[in-house]
Amino acid sequence: MKYRSIAVDGPSGAGKSTMARMVARALGFLYVDTGAIYRTLALFALREGAAPADAQAVAGLLPRAGIRMGYGEDGGQRMYLNGEDVTEAIRTPEVSAAASQVSAHPQVRAFLLDMQRDLAKTGNVIMDGRDIGTVVLPDADVKIFLTASAEDRARRRLAELLERGEQIRFDTVLSDITERDRRDSTRSAAPLRQAEDALLVDTTDKSLEESFALLLQTIQEKLA
Ligand code: C5P
Repeated sequence: MKYRSIAVDGPSGAGKSTMARMVARALGFLYVDTGAIYRTLALFALREGAAPADAQAVAGLLPRAGIRMGYGEDGGQRMYLNGEDVTEAIRTPEVSAAASQVSAHPQVRAFLLDMQRDLAKTGNVIMDGRDIGTVVLPDADVKIFLTASAEDRARRRLAELLERGEQIRFDTVLSDITERDRRDSTRSAAPLRQAEDALLVDTTDKSLEESFALLLQTIQEKLA
């Protein structure tokens, strides 16, 4: 049986995970957040004292990096690092920056590729990341490139971080986002870019409800 797949790519903070999760619920698809996989490896590197930008040091950790994904009782995705549930621990700004660094190494991307592809063989999936439509699932039934202005993305990310109790300023969040955009789109291994056959959804100046309605409509038209 051929399952259907939806690839959602775009820069940090565009609302990919929130909205992909909502689409998954609306369509009865499984939601896969691939950024969480890179974050889990980044957390491992930080804990092991390996510099995330050091390709060799990070590659040396891969044989000991037991990364697994599962689903909790509420249906939410959970990440496990060598058996420990790290779902919350991977959501800090420090891990975000390290994830963007470890994900630039070709060995890391190759190591995590099959894991992501295998997930799409288990059912209908909506997967979000940076290279899903271009590399991981080049034959996805629907490809979306979800974006918004950097300022809009920083405002949303700031609200999320403040809600979680992080003490952080808007300027810091904005410069973190622009730096990750730069790194994710200029790296040579699987850079962030819009696939030729991806549909562009820009949510600048749109509320979550408006953005979701636009995204769902775009996906449903394409699936039909
Ligand atoms: O999406 P999220 O912000 O959780 O991703 C963390 C980092 O992981 C990104 O900044 C990006 O560098 C990397 N990533 C990637 N490819 C993916 C998903 C995430 O390189 N498919």
